[in-house]
Amino acid sequence: MKTNINVFAVGYARISIKDQSSYSLTFQEQAIKRYCEQNKLTLIAFFRDDGESSDTFDRPNWKALEEFLQKHKDLVQYLVVLELDRFSRELTKALQKIDELYQKYKIRVVTVSEPISQDSSSPSSFLMRGIKLLIANHELNLIRSRTAQAMLQAKESGRFTHHAPFGYRNKKDRAGLPVLEIVPKEAEIIRFIFQQYIAGVPFSLIFEEARSQGFNRSGNNSIQHVLSNSLYAGFIKIAKSASQPERLVKGLHQPIISLSLFNTVQDLLKRRHKPIASKPKQVIPLRGMLRCPCGAAISGSYSGGRSRRKYLYYFCGKERSYNFPGETLHLMFDKILKQLSFTPTDFDLVREKAVTWLQEYRKNQGTQIKNCVDHIKAIKQKICYLQIALLNGVISTSMYNRAYADCSLHKAHWEAVANILRKEQLPVLDMLNRAGETLMHLNELFTTSREAEKFKLMKLIFPEALEFDGKLFLTSAVHPALAFNYRKNLFYDLLTLKQSKDENKGKTSEGR
Ligand SMILES: [Zn+2]
Repeated sequence: MKTNINVFAVGYARISIKDQSSYSLTFQEQAIKRYCEQNKLTLIAFFRDDGESSDTFDRPNWKALEEFLQKHKDLVQYLVVLELDRFSRELTKALQKIDELYQKYKIRVVTVSEPISQDSSSPSSFLMRGIKLLIANHELNLIRSRTAQAMLQAKESGRFTHHAPFGYRNKKDRAGLPVLEIVPKEAEIIRFIFQQYIAGVPFSLIFEEARSQGFNRSGNNSIQHVLSNSLYAGFIKIAKSASQPERLVKGLHQPIISLSLFNTVQDLLKRRHKPIASKPKQVIPLRGMLRCPCGAAISGSYSGGRSRRKYLYYFCGKERSYNFPGETLHLMFDKILKQLSFTPTDFDLVREKAVTWLQEYRKNQGTQIKNCVDHIKAIKQKICYLQIALLNGVISTSMYNRAYADCSLHKAHWEAVANILRKEQLPVLDMLNRAGETLMHLNELFTTSREAEKFKLMKLIFPEALEFDGKLFLTSAVHPALAFNYRKNLFYDLLTLKQSKDENKGKTSEGR
């Protein structure tokens, strides 16, 4: 019985994403352990490789394994694997390694399908192994060419198969095929980068602001990379092959920016050879935030001129001649934000309403919690009846089990609802008071915000583009909470609400 008690073995399991092995690490480990038990081998160590390529022995855990074997070469006699292709799919490398382990440490490699007595150094077993590995090797080659083929095909059909760039995440569709999904928060940053670039903001500043918003790429060229990535406009680049030059195909994914914006940026990138690397000394608060009626973004710059005092002016990105003094524009804009801000009376009214609503809500919450408790009580009662029915033989065990499971589910539901209601005690009034301070002084908030925050605030107040036609600001929408102020204050000489295209469409069809 105890003949083999002092025979020591080491186990090795590996899965590889690349060769799509189908045995899980756990499965391999269990099979190896079973084999060791059956053959009375004492398993003293186990090494796992998770997802590394099977081509080389540079795998980190393989190195650890070799170090271990070297250290304990006088103790260990066997290295146990599930199949030889776990060891390596590369034929010559695997055979060399098997031979090397035997020559160096007198350690034999066995698979769980082989009897332990097999002399792995005999010519016949060497040949058998060679054949097995040859098959594995052939499979690997097949997989490789299939993968390359599949990747190209996927690309041609508009599927992006690589790691998703910032703004997207990799997903599988219903058929299990790779698709890109927009990450809304990141997409917002991508749009911001494109807009800023169009508006003439230097790369360094775009980078800094994008980072503060959550852009996580680093390096000097990350902004240029974003700007020249056709993926954001919905197109996939296919590298040139022997038969075809580099080309773009329409992707299946949702674009983040429009094709025309992308093309404009490509033209600009070509024209502006050198990126403007130096940071601007002056602040240009409205740069990139306004639009000219022609559709181009309004940019800003400090004049050089002969006079010593430099002054800020804004101009249309397309029609350079069209420009306005910065100071005037700032004053106008400040006034608009001031007028849109809540008045103290407005805010008191809102707070008053909120307090009433909150009291109502809390009362309601109490009623809802009581409602939950009643439901739970009723379900408990029902379970009680079910137990009596079961004991009296009125219902079968399977019926009881089904009904009981159903009751438990309902009970859990009402308990969860009650818990949520009990926890929901946000300091709403505190939050409201804090918000009030900013709501009453939007202009100050804008002036003191960082550039990235300015953009956010702008987007919030004016969800659609804000145009400036030289005299008047125009937009098709103001945040609903502020639209009331807009109407009440009657400052049409500064800001005009124009009809959005959709509304226009609705009107004409109604009229007919
Ligand atoms: Zn213009």
